[in-house]
Amino acid sequence: MVTDPTWIWRDCEHCGTPFGQPDDPGRKRRFCSGACRTGAYRARKRRQEQQDQQQREDDARRRAYAVLRKLRDQTPGTNGQPALSGLETRPAQPKE
Ligand SMILES: [Zn+2]
Repeated sequence: MVTDPTWIWRDCEHCGTPFGQPDDPGRKRRFCSGACRTGAYRARKRRQEQQDQQQREDDARRRAYAVLRKLRDQTPGTNGQPALSGLETRPAQPKE
């Protein structure tokens, strides 16, 4: 019964279409149809996957940048000093 006072109306969270449902205790529907519920679920999942993907890229780039910066710090610049070996971690000592 649409005229039932316990009937409530909501806008679908996915497509915005108003739809009615009984105001039962318990969980309310948030979508006008199963297709919208599925669509919203997929959209949310896709967003989550994109966030996860972005997170992985950020981590990978942060690590890659740290390695690059370390390599650059170990690489001689234009000061003419020889390159340090990969095992050499102490600062270069001035020659006598
Ligand atoms: Zn909908």
